[in-house]
Amino acid sequence: MIERPAAALKELVENALDAGARRIAVVLEGGGIARIEVVDDGHGIAAADLPLAVQRHATSKLADETLVRIATLGFRGEALPSIGAAARLQLISRAEGEDSAHEIRVEGGLVSPLAPCAGARGTRAVVRDLFFATPARRKFLKHPRTEAEHAEAALRRLALAAPGVAIALEHDGRRLLDLPAQSRAERVAALLGPEAAGALLPVLAERGAMRLAGFAGSPALTRASAVAQGLVVNGRPVVDPVLRAAVRVAYREVIAPGRHPVVALFLDLPPESLDVNVHPAKSELRFQDPAAVRGLVIGALRAALAAPAGAAPRPLGIGGWHRPAARPAPVQGLVAQGLVVQGGGMQGLAESQLPLAAAPAARLVPAATPSPAHPLGAPLAQVLDTYIIALAADGALVLVDQHAAHERLTHEALRAQFHAGGVRAQPLLLPAVVDLPATEAARLLAQAASLARLGLEIESFGAGAVLVRALPAALGAPDPAPLLRDLADELAELGEAMALEARINAVLARLACHGSIRAGRRLAAGEMDALLRQMEATPRAATCSHGRPTFLKLSRADIERLFGRR
Ligand code: ADP
Ligand code: MG
Repeated sequence: MIERPAAALKELVENALDAGARRIAVVLEGGGIARIEVVDDGHGIAAADLPLAVQRHATSKLADETLVRIATLGFRGEALPSIGAAARLQLISRAEGEDSAHEIRVEGGLVSPLAPCAGARGTRAVVRDLFFATPARRKFLKHPRTEAEHAEAALRRLALAAPGVAIALEHDGRRLLDLPAQSRAERVAALLGPEAAGALLPVLAERGAMRLAGFAGSPALTRASAVAQGLVVNGRPVVDPVLRAAVRVAYREVIAPGRHPVVALFLDLPPESLDVNVHPAKSELRFQDPAAVRGLVIGALRAALAAPAGAAPRPLGIGGWHRPAARPAPVQGLVAQGLVVQGGGMQGLAESQLPLAAAPAARLVPAATPSPAHPLGAPLAQVLDTYIIALAADGALVLVDQHAAHERLTHEALRAQFHAGGVRAQPLLLPAVVDLPATEAARLLAQAASLARLGLEIESFGAGAVLVRALPAALGAPDPAPLLRDLADELAELGEAMALEARINAVLARLACHGSIRAGRRLAAGEMDALLRQMEATPRAATCSHGRPTFLKLSRADIERLFGRR
């Protein structure tokens, strides 16, 4: 049960939380292998109860196994004896109303007699020399640095679940965490850091007796792994595959493949609708109705993410550039912080790298007064024929990637039409003939009926040739040849077995890419304004269909901070 320092630390901190501690201080040495110390100011353990506390299956907590526990984190009475069997455990506690503290020690399972000692109200648990008696197990421990990381991660998960408790962590003399008692929102911001705090969208949804609250990171805020996902169910931090999968699905179309969103989600549901006994470490659950949980999480996250551009994200803590989809890139210097945009328009890079002499670097547009109703502001200029600079009524500066933004608008328009019964098709005056490798032509023609509902009408035109009769009207007049080649690629990626219906959205995204304003196209003032207004009215407009940001926003406060005025 205790396989590494992080596991022992988790049990000790859970006990402190169960004891109603307001403040918990953790000190680790040598990754926790040498020493773990947890001091709390909870209700303590009465002297007479100390020998019981270290006995197997002794618990002061309600241990009705048929009842699913929610009130306390522990309930099996196994942790302290397990730690005492694997290490040198020292427990010093003073219960409310007792005039002295008492100490008990367990080393390799041997319990020492109880002894009075000095100590404030609460409990101090010290674990030394983990696996000192079992060198074989000790060999499986990682480098102390790695063990310390695991321990810190475990403590962070508990800290998320208990924002009202002050929590500090020190490792080998270095302070790693120092969290005051906070509101949930403050704790989330403190744990995720300033970069994340500026890009969290509130989540709130109910379904029957279930309630989901918390924060969803904007698609900007992706990480290389899922460790930044905090999931708390009935006050218990969990690592649950059902919840993890739901988060993945909700973000699938707004972040790039292989990246992981940042979330802090708190699910509360009636205790009888889950079973926390499944996993001995209690971090896995079994939901009685996983489909309902999944639906709630996906629906709530999608609703949060569908907030129109500009309306969100609302900074929770320290602001900074709100980069709707930039990955946490190591940044240097203040200016770089906001101006690093990864990617750029998909096909746009080559075009936007045209020699500057070919186009003026920036073209100003006649000034319009920004309206407070327009969070993305009024356009001021087009830069490099690729980016729009706008000014909002509150003084925020907005930089828009015109191709990325338009691609999302087109994608959403196609999606809306599709769900309303079918994408509107524009018949071509002269049907176009496109030559393709025979397998690609066959792959497209096999899906002709489905493609027709996407506004793309094709038929066979002899070996390896496809006749295009109509294209989706929302795309304008794209060149049909690259569009068909791209679609054939998409279908190949999706696999023959996969029905097109199941992957309509991926196909719509491909189509959108072809019907969008390119980087490098000069826009009139009216076109820029129309683009910004449509972004404000369109769900998911903060990122393009590939998960890249469509705009960056620098608020007045951000500007003042960058110039050191604050
Ligand atoms: P469990 O938490 O499942 O009851 P443990 O072995 O973790 O089992 O702890 C055994 C008992 O010791 C608890 O039920 C509780 O009464 C007492 N205890 C342990 N740690 C603390 C603490 N920090 N403060 C108060 N009581 C504690
Ligand atoms: Mg316990």
